[in-house]
Amino acid sequence: METTGIFLVKDDITKLKTDAIVNAANRTLLGGGGVDGAIHRAAGPELLSECRLLHGCDTGDAKITQAYRLPAKYVIHTVGPVWRGGNQNEEKLLAACYRRSLQLAAVHNCSSVAFPNISTGVYRFPKEKAAKIAIVTVKKFLLENKYPEKVYFVCFDDENFSIYKRLLKQETN
Ligand code: ADP
Repeated sequence: METTGIFLVKDDITKLKTDAIVNAANRTLLGGGGVDGAIHRAAGPELLSECRLLHGCDTGDAKITQAYRLPAKYVIHTVGPVWRGGNQNEEKLLAACYRRSLQLAAVHNCSSVAFPNISTGVYRFPKEKAAKIAIVTVKKFLLENKYPEKVYFVCFDDENFSIYKRLLKQETN
């Protein structure tokens, strides 16, 4: 499914051969559960060694590393906000994650980038709200910038996949 450079897939993000994949990391950048754990396991221990040199990352910001044993070229580590009811700047911080990740991808000449559904796992951001923010932010960036040319929303759970499917379909109508 495509909307002007935006693609939806249901997959394990560690399998994708895009120029960059985005990791929903935590502020330490030293690994964790969920997609973060899967990325570190698939990339191998060299990823953690490079992450140690980065000294963490603020919420809403992003940092880039090599991808080691992954098929992608780069991993962009971004730290999503923990959902605390919506009055702690969560929506702006989530949009910033997508924007900062795309900026880093552009600087590194990445033509394709894959995003997981940042913050919608253990960080409990409401999935529909998160999907709307992700789509609006990515769409705007793609319109205003040459790179990246293709963005993949990679859904792992059925609920996120059906939310994205519905929202992206609405956009094309
Ligand atoms: P956060 O702490 O940002 O909420 P999680 O890793 O707990 O991060 O969840 C973020 C999203 O990543 C969830 O929607 C979850 O279904 C998804 N996810 C978990 N493993 C993978 C994977 N291997 N590939 C893609 N998405 C994944």
